[in-house]
Amino acid sequence: MTTDEEFLRANEAFAATFQKGHLPMPPARRVAVLTCMDARLDPARFLGLQEGDAHVIRNAGGRASEDAIRSLVISEQLLDTTSVVVIHHTDCGMLTFRNEDLAAKLKQELQVDADHIDFLPFTNLEQSVRDDVTTLKASPLIPKNVTISGFVYDVKSGRLLPVT
Ligand code: ZN
Repeated sequence: MTTDEEFLRANEAFAATFQKGHLPMPPARRVAVLTCMDARLDPARFLGLQEGDAHVIRNAGGRASEDAIRSLVISEQLLDTTSVVVIHHTDCGMLTFRNEDLAAKLKQELQVDADHIDFLPFTNLEQSVRDDVTTLKASPLIPKNVTISGFVYDVKSGRLLPVT
């Protein structure tokens, strides 16, 4: 069975008992979570979120990239969220490479020049959370009354630790 077929089969079982079709579009908890795409992170479970509760914006590292900010603007301006929670995590893949490494790999494998791309890797986990919180607080696109906080999720223990 292909992955697509597996997904369709799993979804049939899901839809058979689905009862959340009535939810409104704006998140009930008025929060947007910005976190990493890492397969070990299940933000809904480790944060106690249900369908309809929150926006969860995911990218490599959970970085406050231009596109993450695009989503946050829509979340705040059009869908009434009032807080942002940035969550990076231990053992993140973004700690394992430098821009030069990935650019060299792309040059070798795809013959493409990616020297100008910042893939937003980092070397210090807690500092990367602080940097992204600072970036969001400094963004003219994020209103000053939006609460922004930062955390590290530990993939070994499942615990969420505040970053101050
Ligand atoms: Zn990660």
